[in-house]
Amino acid sequence: STPAWVQALDKYVASKPIEELAADLGLEPKEIIMLVANENPYGMSQKVKDKIAHAALNLNRYPDADSCYLQKALSKKYGLPQDWFVVTSGSSELLGLTAQTVLSEGKNAIIPQYSFSLYPMVAKLCGAEIREVPATSDYNADLQRILEQIDENTRLIFLTNPNNPTGTYLSEKEIIDFLEKVPSNVVVLFDEAYVEFLEKELQPDSLEIVKRFPNVIIARTFSKAYGLAGCRVGYGIAQPELLELINRVRHPFNVNDLSQLAAIAALEDQEFLETTLKNNREGIAQLAKAFDELGLSYMGLHSNFITVKVGDGAKIVGELLKKGIIVRKMNSYDLPEWIRVTVGTKEQNERFLEELKELL
Ligand code: PMP
Repeated sequence: STPAWVQALDKYVASKPIEELAADLGLEPKEIIMLVANENPYGMSQKVKDKIAHAALNLNRYPDADSCYLQKALSKKYGLPQDWFVVTSGSSELLGLTAQTVLSEGKNAIIPQYSFSLYPMVAKLCGAEIREVPATSDYNADLQRILEQIDENTRLIFLTNPNNPTGTYLSEKEIIDFLEKVPSNVVVLFDEAYVEFLEKELQPDSLEIVKRFPNVIIARTFSKAYGLAGCRVGYGIAQPELLELINRVRHPFNVNDLSQLAAIAALEDQEFLETTLKNNREGIAQLAKAFDELGLSYMGLHSNFITVKVGDGAKIVGELLKKGIIVRKMNSYDLPEWIRVTVGTKEQNERFLEELKELL
């Protein structure tokens, strides 16, 4: 008797308007707790809101085609020239642009097991062969096995640091040892969508890595720690020669005016970012403590989500859904006993934990 839309949940729930989702569930919108898409549960910076509210009244002109002012702001933040940055519609667009730049039929892309589902999609769209490499026993990317899979047709390797959905991370030493062995005609895309959440002492010096390796591109986003998922804005950092190629496939005006302004304002509001990181650390500790008390295994405390082993993941996700709590099942990752929960506010985490305890 499970409605079809519940079965199809993973495909569309993250983008369904909350009002509609609530109506489908027979609940009030305020009863819905979205812990499914690793968004910022605290919303967005007030300074960003003020900036966009004003700009929203003036949208008759085209936006800056290359997001120059955002490039400038990034250049100032990171101390690298402006042409080391490309601004994209979410980091998702950058993943696709990088694939289009280097992949085609006859070439292959290497993707670790338990990676973000968009990687194989963008690579397949370019006609490339996908080489999925089994993870290590602790669910991390197996860098040695990845090296063994490289051949003369390999053009792209995706690595996520920290990883979604396992929350595992790669150390700077592991990354450098690995890059030293990767041929220079293979582009390595480090997807750092969640890097802000990784403890400072565990963060690799990505800028030094990009400066040293011309075949590396770092993908970052404003969707997670900065709370701007709805704006669709992300960026890449790489040497200008590589970005020049990527820019050939990027459409001009790919990022709208409001999103460019929102991202610039978000970069300036360091206080909002720090508060988000502090809240997230507290939320991670709250969830981990409760999982320990329940005797549940979990992975990854280095991001804004935890993936936890609950038994029949799909069943738990379905039961939580009836109560309006939306979390992610892991069947598509071949981890049917696990669910992924985004760190919410303290109250949202409490509600989720109460319901989970009851179900277990
Ligand atoms: N990379 C990873 C690992 C992600 O989890 C996500 C979002 N779920 C993205 C990239 C894409 O994020 P966006 O396009 O919003 O920047």
